[in-house]
Amino acid sequence: MNTCRGDPRKKLTVTIDAEVLEKAKKVAESKNIPLSRLIENFLSFFADPYVYCFSCGEKFYVKDSEVCPKCGWLICPKCKACRCSLDENTAASIFYMRKVYEDLLAGRLK
Ligand SMILES: [Zn+2]
Ligand SMILES: [Zn+2]
Repeated sequence: MNTCRGDPRKKLTVTIDAEVLEKAKKVAESKNIPLSRLIENFLSFFADPYVYCFSCGEKFYVKDSEVCPKCGWLICPKCKACRCSLDENTAASIFYMRKVYEDLLAGRLK
């Protein structure tokens, strides 16, 4: 019986801005994180993004959640929280935190 499934890893060749790469390499080195793991982390997040509920802290995947037709935010599958239950100030701070995700993913979460 052959149980060997081989190395599931693949080589990835990408071309990116030289300055960005240099800076990233330095930071990754200082944190002792291999660049390949960072890229893998990001790609896995990109393929299947998740957030933590601002209300109950539950981690949920964007694909498993619904968008509230009223406020346009993701509804937490566990406690059903969305922007509708928040006051303006709280909503604004969460909005700008989640905006980082959308900048990173180059588009809306959902
Ligand atoms: Zn929740
Ligand atoms: Zn809502």
